[in-house]
Amino acid sequence: MGKLQDQALLKHSSYWQGNWQSAERSFNVTNPANGEIIGTVADATAADAEKAVAAADTALSDWAARPAAERAKFLMRWQQLMLQHQDDLGLLLTLEQGKPLAEAKGEIAYGASYLEWFAEEAKRVYGDTIPAKSNDQRIIVIKQPVGVVAAITPWNFPNAMIARKAAAALAAGCTFVVKPAQLTPLSALAMAELADRAGIPAGVFNVVVSTDAKAIGKVLTEDPRVAKFSFTGSTKIGKQLAKQCAGTVKRVSLELGGNAPFLVFADADLDAAVDGLMASKFRNAGQTCVCTNRVLVAENVLDEFTTKLQQAISKLKIGDGTYDEVDIGPLINTEACTKVDELISTAVTQGAQLKCGGKRQSDNSLFYLPTVLSKVTNQMDIAQQEIFGPVVALQSFSDETQAIQLANATEFGLAAYFYSRDIGRIWRVAEALQYGMVGINEGMVSNPTAPFGGVKQSGYGREGSKYGLDDYMDIKYLCLGGLDK
Ligand code: NAP
Repeated sequence: MGKLQDQALLKHSSYWQGNWQSAERSFNVTNPANGEIIGTVADATAADAEKAVAAADTALSDWAARPAAERAKFLMRWQQLMLQHQDDLGLLLTLEQGKPLAEAKGEIAYGASYLEWFAEEAKRVYGDTIPAKSNDQRIIVIKQPVGVVAAITPWNFPNAMIARKAAAALAAGCTFVVKPAQLTPLSALAMAELADRAGIPAGVFNVVVSTDAKAIGKVLTEDPRVAKFSFTGSTKIGKQLAKQCAGTVKRVSLELGGNAPFLVFADADLDAAVDGLMASKFRNAGQTCVCTNRVLVAENVLDEFTTKLQQAISKLKIGDGTYDEVDIGPLINTEACTKVDELISTAVTQGAQLKCGGKRQSDNSLFYLPTVLSKVTNQMDIAQQEIFGPVVALQSFSDETQAIQLANATEFGLAAYFYSRDIGRIWRVAEALQYGMVGINEGMVSNPTAPFGGVKQSGYGREGSKYGLDDYMDIKYLCLGGLDK
């Protein structure tokens, strides 16, 4: 870790009540590009999670009572520190997660942009007045912070998935406890160090790192002091945690898995569609929830599209994300590679055709070759499960009705993409797709001004945008009576 300009960003333990906390046991964090240990961190327990929740609970009344403009200043200081340390935070993120450095630095800027966005939105939490039924009364609506927020986040965006939640929670006046993924705790701890330097009061932002997700998750979902639980991760775990939250009737937001279709109509600009697909499919080696999972192409342009796509794929450079010009880093671990191997071999057994890739770069590495499979059908596992790897699974369709039917034939509903130049079709398809987000002639849709979130089994709640604060605020109705003389 000698390359960090600011070595103090490398932390080794959880952070709550404004202090770095020790633990009896510790665990190693490794670099997926080469297996080297990049840090050792204290392994928190359920009792520690309870202490972090207590710290957030104690800090709540003071934080919630501060004027929004004051909370905004803290968030802006935190945002500026993240950008000042973008190179170090990006490097740390690449070392623990694997994505290329340019993408990692992009994630830091993306995470910081949510701090800026919600610092500004904090000042625009408006209430309402409603015409009353009698002159004797006035009806007023105010919004108040929900209280202590607990969050659990995944390894694929170790900075941004935390920033997206914490920014909205803190702006709304809530205090926050997060458990990051055990594979990528260092980015979360570096965020805590910068929150500390930004002067964010003790107990407002807390991080609990642990190898015992189940035990920490039990505290965060069942402790009555936690008012709201926000989860980003797989649909399977999200369902389980939502059930656990039911016992104390917590507010819940779930950002879960996706199965994004990418539709290419015959009238599309095929070069633009290939560019959009490359961005949507290969970012983070295919390990994002909004990554294209199924590519559906009009049958009369399928050959031309496939040729152009293979040309673009042949230019991708795979390697250690810290090296220059790398486009694709390693997958997160051996299990991820095995899952991709199995999805590909099953698809081939079921009739798909392997056009390129289909294996790791070398036997023991986690670098997976960009892969193209043709003749995929929507019934195959590879079309129904999240691939989470650099694999393009090509299907074809005969007309618009079939394209929409195939695109919607999944339990997920996070992101979808389509390419067309026909304005009538653009409206018809956009309205028919059962997804929370639709990219139209765009392969990347996420930014802080827009509402991020899914429908169906991809979850509920929205992050970012003017809607994002609602998830962290309660509506209170005040009925003022006795006004008659
Ligand atoms: P995951 O297995 O569900 O893990 C996500 C988080 O949950 C991690 O912090 C994990 O901790 C924790 N966890 C696992 N089991 C738990 C349990 N029994 N109780 C409490 N917490 C538990 O998902 P993942 O493989 O890390 O992440 C990939 C998934 O996230 C994909 O499905 C992807 O689509 C989804 N995702 C969704 C969005 C979105 O915005 N919709 C964004 C990014 C990713 P440990 O890792 O420490 O075990």
